[in-house]
Amino acid sequence: MAQRNLGPSRTEPVFDRLTIIGAGLIGSSIARAVRKVGAAKSVVLADASREVIERARALNLGDSYFTSAREAVVGADIVIFCTPVGAIAEVAAEVAPALKPGAIVSDVGSVKGAVVAAVGPHLPGGVHFVPAHPVAGTEQSGPEAGFASLFVNRWCILTPPEGADARATQRVATLWTAIGANVEVMTPEHHDLVLAITSHVPHLIAYNIVGTAADLEAVTRSEVIKFSAGGFRDFTRIAASDPTMWRDVFLNNKDAVLEMLGRFNEDLTALQRMIRRGDGEGLFDLFTRTRAIRRGIVEVGQETEAPDFGRQSANEAEEGA
Ligand code: NAP
Repeated sequence: MAQRNLGPSRTEPVFDRLTIIGAGLIGSSIARAVRKVGAAKSVVLADASREVIERARALNLGDSYFTSAREAVVGADIVIFCTPVGAIAEVAAEVAPALKPGAIVSDVGSVKGAVVAAVGPHLPGGVHFVPAHPVAGTEQSGPEAGFASLFVNRWCILTPPEGADARATQRVATLWTAIGANVEVMTPEHHDLVLAITSHVPHLIAYNIVGTAADLEAVTRSEVIKFSAGGFRDFTRIAASDPTMWRDVFLNNKDAVLEMLGRFNEDLTALQRMIRRGDGEGLFDLFTRTRAIRRGIVEVGQETEAPDFGRQSANEAEEGA
């Protein structure tokens, strides 16, 4: 089994002044992680919502706090957009005139092609754009939901546009490594295809199956909840993910999601045929192949091999308390 990274230790600062726009789950996790290891001399937080930024202040997540993104980026060496994908272009346009020459702009959006296309034109010459996507998260939102170890042993994918400054890309990679992530570089298009099948389509399936179950007239709502241990429960966790974030993902990764959904539908039709024809061998072969994929994910340390996703049963939890 792969060795698990037990967490990063203190480091030399990678940046002097690091600004995070959007103090939600991902932004607050970056702030916590960066401050924990000392990866920046100061952490500046901004959020359009006064209420959110006051909650971030109460949690002591940064060194200074703003509701104006433009004011927050003044003097920043790196600015990371941590808003929903649909708001990133607007934020880029707002902060562009205040960015200092040589600053690095990055983001954490779950879609890369649309973000690169929308942000690039707003940025002045001499500012380096290094888009990123930490493949780590939970179904929770907001500053309280973040935690410093969120990125430990998780992938962070960088998608620098053609001609991007290699030193800027390296500094962003160093930042992510400092807070525990493993870094991979790929094109925005490739990122969007890979994430369509590994993340976006699975979320769509979860939203769909939970929606279907909720709509079934023959099964009451209470029965759906009562018997949810049989696989449905794991879909409900995914289907509880942030509606704004996921709306933006599907609107901005349309082509790749539709491509993967087309393939998914073909394979579902093949499965349907196997069931109709009583093709037990076909079903058994497929389920054997899919089991091997799960084993592979556990082996590379991206999932626990504990039964039931490592959840403790209610009894065990009580015993352990
Ligand atoms: P979140 O918890 O909802 O945080 C987003 C924050 O951005 C909210 O506080 C939101 O304020 C604020 N915001 C929205 N528009 C803004 C604007 N124009 N200016 C400044 N702040 C603004 O969301 P999240 O889960 O951290 O996701 C943030 C980004 O990370 C998304 O692009 C998502 O695709 C990406 N991502 C998410 C995950 C995940 O699992 N959640 C994983 C990897 C990457 P309001 O709530 O008031 O709108």
